Amino acid sequence: MTRSVYGPIKDFYLRNPLEGAVQEMLYLVISSIGLGGISPVKSLPSGTSCLVSNNLGELNKDKEVVACCQKEDLSASSWNSYLLETIPYEFQGEDSKSVSSRMNKMWIAVSATVVALLAIASLSPLNKFYHNLALPQLSLHGGVLADLLVTNGTIYTSNVTLPFADAMAIRNGRIFRIGNYSSMQDLAGFSTKTLNLEGKVVVPGFIDSHVHLLFGGLQMAQVQLRGVDTREHFVNKVKEALSNMRHGSWLLGGGWNNDLWGGELPMASWIDDISPYNPVWLTRMDGHMGFANSMALKIAGISNSTEDPDGGAVMRNGSGEPTGLLIDSATKLVLSCIPEVSIEERREALLRASNHALTRGVTTVVDFGRYYPGASTELSWEDLSDVYRWADLSGNMKIRVCLFFPMETWERLYELINEAGRKLSQWIYLGGMKSFADGSLGSNSALFYEPYVDEVQNYGLQVADLDDLYNMTVSSDKSGLQVAVHAIGDRSNDLILDMYKIVASKNGIRDRRFRIEHAQHMAPGTVARFGEQEVIASVQPDHLLYDADSAIKKLGMERAQRGSYLFKSLLAGNAQLALGSDWPVVDINPLGSIRTAMKRVPPGWEKAWISSECISLNDALNAYTISAAHACFLDEDVGSLSVGKMADFVVLSTDSWDNFAVEGSASVEATYVGGLQAYSRKPKEHM
Ligand SMILES: [Zn+2]
Repeated sequence: MTRSVYGPIKDFYLRNPLEGAVQEMLYLVISSIGLGGISPVKSLPSGTSCLVSNNLGELNKDKEVVACCQKEDLSASSWNSYLLETIPYEFQGEDSKSVSSRMNKMWIAVSATVVALLAIASLSPLNKFYHNLALPQLSLHGGVLADLLVTNGTIYTSNVTLPFADAMAIRNGRIFRIGNYSSMQDLAGFSTKTLNLEGKVVVPGFIDSHVHLLFGGLQMAQVQLRGVDTREHFVNKVKEALSNMRHGSWLLGGGWNNDLWGGELPMASWIDDISPYNPVWLTRMDGHMGFANSMALKIAGISNSTEDPDGGAVMRNGSGEPTGLLIDSATKLVLSCIPEVSIEERREALLRASNHALTRGVTTVVDFGRYYPGASTELSWEDLSDVYRWADLSGNMKIRVCLFFPMETWERLYELINEAGRKLSQWIYLGGMKSFADGSLGSNSALFYEPYVDEVQNYGLQVADLDDLYNMTVSSDKSGLQVAVHAIGDRSNDLILDMYKIVASKNGIRDRRFRIEHAQHMAPGTVARFGEQEVIASVQPDHLLYDADSAIKKLGMERAQRGSYLFKSLLAGNAQLALGSDWPVVDINPLGSIRTAMKRVPPGWEKAWISSECISLNDALNAYTISAAHACFLDEDVGSLSVGKMADFVVLSTDSWDNFAVEGSASVEATYVGGLQAYSRKPKEHM
């Protein structure tokens, strides 16, 4: 039997299945009506064209699917777009005869290799490299079968047309059917796996709407000062880390929060005597302030005579000497002296970060990269080519990423999207442009209408030139790019909303989904503007745990109380909420964050901070799934458990939805990405 209809290639990736042994392998996942498969090809010789086939010899003679590709340099970035643009459509609609004749002209079939590799694949311990090699499945009578049936659970879908289901069928990494188990029994075949949820709750894979993924991964390997609550503990941690270091190398770390030990800011003198041989740089948890020891200050050339750069400040003592603390763009003075992290370190950071995210049920992140005021705009681009593309080609992507780039570089993103599309693969999406309006509350650099109560001359920092920001926003938006601007203080939120309004009226109506990142403090009346202007509020509930005390201290009770973290009011004003963590500012942990959005009880508090702004479990879950997907234009692929979307989902520890909805407490049992188990609290099962 031959089939005459060939569908588009759904996905492809190169991976290195056996470090060093088999160098490269190409999988093409081809789907069509009633037909699907994956074909591995071993070691493509350089500069040749190749043919990929899932002709599995005698086994599946009737299911031959072919595709061809010109092999270019395996490391070339053009590989992705070449495959995506050339292959998917080349054989569409052709019958098998013409495909076969072209096949003969071009190259040899590789069925023998395929069979050999599949034989190898069945052997342990290589098995793990192949566990996700889902072969096409057809029932005896030719009907389609599921690869995986998920049954016997409470499946919350984030899809309003069918909020709950008890079973779902997965095929080729996507949801094929969802509903009652009885409606999908016909999809079970000999090789269909079953995941019996035993009553557990399943939710869509979480989308963290604001992370700095590589920073998170890098920070996991540095001095971790998160949660440190005394000066002594702080100094001891630094001392311990220094004991393993070579003289002269930089000690890096971060996550400290001076509010936890009463507010006193660290000074170089705290650690100078324990760090005579090493420069030290430790960033505050919000990333807007960093702390250097004297050796680092010396290397950076920072002294009494150093002037404050635009958009930043060098903190000084009474006699004008730098204390070691640098704020916002002043951090650049030290950062520019720190040796670049190597490509290897960044790749390891991605793997560490992705694995950590999976343990928390996160299957997609919106990554704002290593860009912040004062940092080079190149970093995000280097990470795309050195880290993300590498991970994609080598089969090391484990979660999906939507990447945002510095707004200054909008033309580059515009060109890249024109060339390659927004979706570089099933793992990497090109998001949009990011810029900053102000700093952070913790560093007294968020921009307010009224001054900080604890610093009466200070209204915060406007970190961008408004004209520049406006011009870049107009151009980005006109080019069809999504724009996200960081705004924390009430004044900066209004400035950005004003700007968005002008840009929208200048460029005309379109589905632009402007975002404000953080949208933390609002003046009276501002909250309604998000809904009216259809601006997405990308907010991070867990920040309120650490900000509650300091907001009251810095803004005064009345201002803090009326305008901070207004989640419920935003929803009531028809704004779309996208929840996230801003990891590594706080840990990546959607379930914790959902609970925070529901309960708003900071550590050491007995009741909620601004209880009127608590939101329901459903609202919080939606903001971590479907709204988050909508907020970054990924709602066609992810965000809900709906037919056709990626089978990304999380199995929770709880088996009571009602209890979950009241308490907001649950933990992650297992995380599935594209229908495959990517994390399990229990030892991983081969699928
Ligand atoms: Zn951020």
